[in-house]
Amino acid sequence: MTILIAEDEKSIVRGLEAYLRQEGFETLTAETEEGAIELLPGADLALLDISLEEGSGFGVCRQAKRRGLPVIFLTASGDESSVVRGLDMGADDYVAKPFRPRELISRIRSVLRRSGRGQTLVQLGDAAVDTERGTVTRDGREEVLSALEKRLLMVFINNRGRLLGRDRLLEEIWDAGGDFVNDNTLTVYIKRLRNKLERDPQNPEIIRTVRGSGYLVD
Ligand code: CA
Repeated sequence: MTILIAEDEKSIVRGLEAYLRQEGFETLTAETEEGAIELLPGADLALLDISLEEGSGFGVCRQAKRRGLPVIFLTASGDESSVVRGLDMGADDYVAKPFRPRELISRIRSVLRRSGRGQTLVQLGDAAVDTERGTVTRDGREEVLSALEKRLLMVFINNRGRLLGRDRLLEEIWDAGGDFVNDNTLTVYIKRLRNKLERDPQNPEIIRTVRGSGYLVD
């Protein structure tokens, strides 16, 4: 799923990009109305700021709706007239700034689901991962992933076929709230994930160890 972020405040864009990727989304970004409209064909959902560097989110919304694309507006808190105008234009939802990333993600998932775009099942070997519910099903048995297990697994899912070093993994799963994840914790979480995913966790076939380099999920 690719989320188009149309927003001219760079710090918000950077934060959103990092967070969305961590949650398994691809991102496209634009700072102007025209730039955002050009990117619409590659997007599954548009996340739109109202006032852009040039033009506005309303113009992007109009084009997005022509394409049947779901839209969520990022509005300044208390800006009710913009909220009303956006919803009148067919926007699916709005989130007031400053927003909590977790809340935004849950709104995005729910809008994607309603629009029938929320493809959330990923097959890894003989394990089926539901990335929305955070569960793994294998041999008819369902296991629930903890928040950190899920985040780690999403990093693997977003980087299938790529060798991931421990440093990179540690960087990626650094908690958005600032909790430090150390090397030992990473080892523990890899082990827990394997216990839930692998037929034989001692001989892992899904999260493979590449000696001296890191881990690989194909
Ligand atoms: Ca703005």
